[in-house]
Amino acid sequence: MKLSGSSLQRASICPPSAILPAVQQVAAAATRGTVWHDFLFRVNTEGLQRALEAAPAEHRAALAALDFDRLPLNPDAWAPEVSFAYNVESDTARELGRGLGRDYGPLLLEGELPGTPDVTGVHLVEDKRARVLDYKTGFAHLGAPAESWQLGFYALCAARAMGAEEAEVSFIRIREDGEAYFDTAVLDFFALEAIALRLREVVARVREAQATHEAGGALALTEGEHCRRCPALPRCPAMATLATALGSGEGWLTPGELTPERAARVWERLQAARLVVERVTGALELYASEAPIPLPGGRVYGVKKLPRDVFDARKAAPVLEQIFGAQFATKAIDTTPSLTKEGMRRALRAEAQTHRGLKVEPSLRHLLEQLREAGALHTRYSYPVMAYKPRPEEAEDERRPDGVGGLPGGAACEADSKGGGAEG
Ligand code: SF4
Repeated sequence: MKLSGSSLQRASICPPSAILPAVQQVAAAATRGTVWHDFLFRVNTEGLQRALEAAPAEHRAALAALDFDRLPLNPDAWAPEVSFAYNVESDTARELGRGLGRDYGPLLLEGELPGTPDVTGVHLVEDKRARVLDYKTGFAHLGAPAESWQLGFYALCAARAMGAEEAEVSFIRIREDGEAYFDTAVLDFFALEAIALRLREVVARVREAQATHEAGGALALTEGEHCRRCPALPRCPAMATLATALGSGEGWLTPGELTPERAARVWERLQAARLVVERVTGALELYASEAPIPLPGGRVYGVKKLPRDVFDARKAAPVLEQIFGAQFATKAIDTTPSLTKEGMRRALRAEAQTHRGLKVEPSLRHLLEQLREAGALHTRYSYPVMAYKPRPEEAEDERRPDGVGGLPGGAACEADSKGGGAEG
């Protein structure tokens, strides 16, 4: 059984996810998260200077901009990476060690589940409340801290290990600009009891799935958004069935298994599968626009009013000038010149009204040539993987000049100009 704080929520929805073989993958966002977690651990244990020196160079500037005053870094009050072992049967917990790097090995005893909050309060608050905090660096939806399986489990671990009646739990969301935002909740005695009960139920369901699996029975898998980070996804029978139905026709495929003919077949099937997904999504959206659909974790899928502030720069300028002066207004209002082909087309159409005989498209081509000659237009290339009809001159080789293949789902091609943006 592979259950821990971060996998509990998924296991509560799909118990077999805790018994299927895990295949670890490192995504770019996870790499950033890992670097930042490691840095904050070092700040607490080794001090800021040494932590900065140990951080990868490309992350240093962003790390140095963190809001250190607000973060729980004082070693007299906070301990990073304290690992606990929770025994589901006895509803007790003990401290396993610190800075173990999630490598619990033989430290864990039979029937114990590991949990490592990013930060744990060294002392109880008012002699009765444990504190656990978890850093979050991505943009994933977190939900309320009081309802988080992960924080709830950590709270239970710390409270039981420290003999606390209550626990204070926090997500610390760290934004790209270094600002830290706390979302905190207090779990009282009854809330902790409820978490212990829910945990026992999840463990019982995982054990049931294990027994079914060992007896050769079919696993009751539940697909959904929670699958996104499931380490068992590449080995999950439900996902393999979906992959077969939606694209490959033959379960999971690796690039090494593809031939040009087979790849073309998969591509065609994927287009058809996309149409199906679009249709089903359309029907779902229509339904949800009239009646919000309840989702796991207290969320709903439905119409949401999203605010977007739109400024009128001309009306705003005098207000800013009056409060902070003209210089401030100039800095605050973005006046970067922008040039696009569509803008030039518009201007040429207007010119054509007075200059009879002026042809828009030939004039645009002439303008583009002149701009390129003057160094005001450069063409940059990106290398998305997409369907296209090669022109004879392109048939030779469309791969990146540095030899790297195209980027799946890459950005659209772009062109820009010196001194002002120009769209391709
Ligand atoms: S990928 Fe989804 S359905 Fe499969 S085991 Fe993981 S959570 Fe369950």
